[in-house]
Amino acid sequence: KEFRNNVKPNWCPGCGDFSIQAAIQRAAANVGLEPENLAVVSGIGCSGRISGYIHAYGLHGIHGRALPIAQGVKLANRELTVVASGGDGDGFAIGMGHTVHAIRRNMDITYIVMDNQIYGLTKGQTSPRSAEGFKTKSTPEGSIESVLSPLEIAMSAGATFVAQSFSSDLKQLTALIEAGINHKGFSLINVFSPCVTFNKVNTYDWFKENIVKLEEFPDYDPTNRIAAMTKIMETGGLLTGLIYHNQTRKPYEELVSGFRPEGLAKQELQLSRDEFEQLTAEFK
Ligand code: SF4
Repeated sequence: KEFRNNVKPNWCPGCGDFSIQAAIQRAAANVGLEPENLAVVSGIGCSGRISGYIHAYGLHGIHGRALPIAQGVKLANRELTVVASGGDGDGFAIGMGHTVHAIRRNMDITYIVMDNQIYGLTKGQTSPRSAEGFKTKSTPEGSIESVLSPLEIAMSAGATFVAQSFSSDLKQLTALIEAGINHKGFSLINVFSPCVTFNKVNTYDWFKENIVKLEEFPDYDPTNRIAAMTKIMETGGLLTGLIYHNQTRKPYEELVSGFRPEGLAKQELQLSRDEFEQLTAEFK
């Protein structure tokens, strides 16, 4: 199965986003999807380009709105596997309201955040994930705001699947995306994805030195919500692996009353061919 297309990514050489693209393509193949079964929806930012780089249905949305679009796609066609993607500015700043409510809604969507702790596309401003004291063009004296913790927010919003990875760890990242796709509900996978052009602090080496792998704790139980929250806080949010997994809650689309199980995209057209042509003529 081939999820590669002919579009050459225009990310900077060395950008962490390349590995995330490869991991999504590998995970989709490993779980047995065909390109026509997969929709990749993205927001705006360097990372938002990813929907054009994967051979599948792709929708490059608007800033902070990848998740509302992804939820619409999923409701319209439940047979599609829906992957939403974007950067930390996209999902945790302008899009944070949508992120929190998508998490608590628990629709069957895999949300992959490319967390480079800066705004790359607009050439290097402080994001909600930038550390206190972080100096950029928008904070020349250093950021005075506290760092937002997406893992803690996801846990407190009732997430059913929370994972974190590093773009350099392709094996772990691919396995987590596979697990997210197989999870019946909303899965958040935050991925440290270095911006080699504008973030000279949170580099590949910095992450390698500071990341804590959950595999170092063989007794860790990802079904224990309190243990998950504790471990996130103990490691300063720098742990990677499957942090929390709750398989007891059904996804939104299975619970909503009166929802067409086939999805709107599959409903029978109640029009003749001529009526359909007339109706759509003005959009041609
Ligand atoms: Fe990647 Fe940063 Fe370049 Fe954007 S500016 S493509 S995030 S390295």
